[in-house]
Amino acid sequence: MQLTDRINTLSESITIAVTALAQELRAQGKDVLGFSAGEPDFGTPRIIKVAAIAAIESDKTRYTAVDGIPELKQAVIDKLKRDNGLSYEMNQVIVNNGAKHSLFNLFQATIQAGDEVIIPAPYWVTYPELVKYSGGTTIEIMTDDASGFKITPQQLRDAITPRTKMLVLTTPSNPTGAVYSRSELEALADVLIGTDIIVASDEMYEKLVYKGEFISAAAISEDMFQRTVTINGLSKSVAMTGWRFGYMASADAEMIKATKKLQSQSTSNINSITQYAAIKGLDGSADDEIEMMRQAFMKRRDEAVERFNAVDGLSVLSPDGAFYLYVNIKAVTDDSLTFCKRLLEEKEVAVVPGVGFGLDGYFRFSFATDIEKIREGIGRIEAFIKNY
Ligand code: PMP
Ligand code: GLU
Repeated sequence: MQLTDRINTLSESITIAVTALAQELRAQGKDVLGFSAGEPDFGTPRIIKVAAIAAIESDKTRYTAVDGIPELKQAVIDKLKRDNGLSYEMNQVIVNNGAKHSLFNLFQATIQAGDEVIIPAPYWVTYPELVKYSGGTTIEIMTDDASGFKITPQQLRDAITPRTKMLVLTTPSNPTGAVYSRSELEALADVLIGTDIIVASDEMYEKLVYKGEFISAAAISEDMFQRTVTINGLSKSVAMTGWRFGYMASADAEMIKATKKLQSQSTSNINSITQYAAIKGLDGSADDEIEMMRQAFMKRRDEAVERFNAVDGLSVLSPDGAFYLYVNIKAVTDDSLTFCKRLLEEKEVAVVPGVGFGLDGYFRFSFATDIEKIREGIGRIEAFIKNY
């Protein structure tokens, strides 16, 4: 079959590919330790599951409004007000099949040939692919561990051209865990004043902050509120990766309406049962579990960082958020792809090569797994490096 150019240029998600490969090897009986998946190892909180069961029992199993049931949209609005200090109306919010789908719809609705999208690197693998698929061009701003993996206002200023349509901001970051402070966001916001650049603020790891406070980009100023699209979901905060729930909110109701049109011709509403369950993930009912998981992740982070930094040839910054370590392997090699392939083959440890995130010489290690596995995995990596 003749495929389209646009699908031929799209790459598969490397985070998903490595995780699938690790699962395949495990099914073949290999003792693979997986640190590639970007998902919590905890179960979904009970109160959310109970709400889902009640939705099934009461036949909440039909098509719903494309953009989500009103109760759920109201729960999103209330959450954004309570946690982030943002005021949105019903027509400024849409519910999607995961935040990845929110981003897909956003890019399809706003980016086209000739448009440039600024993406700080290292970045989550999906963004540049979505830019490509919508016909736009990615402009990377490079960061490294010396800059704490954060862009500076000057870097942003230098990257902007008359064709710049959007800036993607991910705080806390996947894959580095970097979190922008209020003053850092204010400084970036100043650079954008007078432009019509959209800010896509991916706040997926909002609830997983270990140091400092989380600030929404849209909360910085009225100017930022008008230009920012806030994207979030429940996959990471309440361990709901498989349920598929995400949302976006924007002051531009026309843009939201356009994505609703796209969704009406593609996926329609998200799973009706997920919608009823998600209300409980948003309304504070699961806050105790969220805090329990955050504490558990923080403990694992501290131990994993200490262990990695004790290995000759490796170094890692302690991330302020999310559940990834972006481990520097430059003292060993710049070629993360070969490194990670051999690590999987020889030591049966799955991590994601940094090259997939736009910055080689690193690998991403997810610490969303139990501490015994983390210890064993780092031990294997240490043994592997000795003979590299
Ligand atoms: N944004 C970031 C930064 C992520 O790491 C993920 C995880 N896959 C997503 C968005 C999408 O999450 P989901 O589609 O499960 O809501
Ligand atoms: N976001 C997660 C990760 O980075 C899940 C996989 C994906 O959607 O790419 O691993």
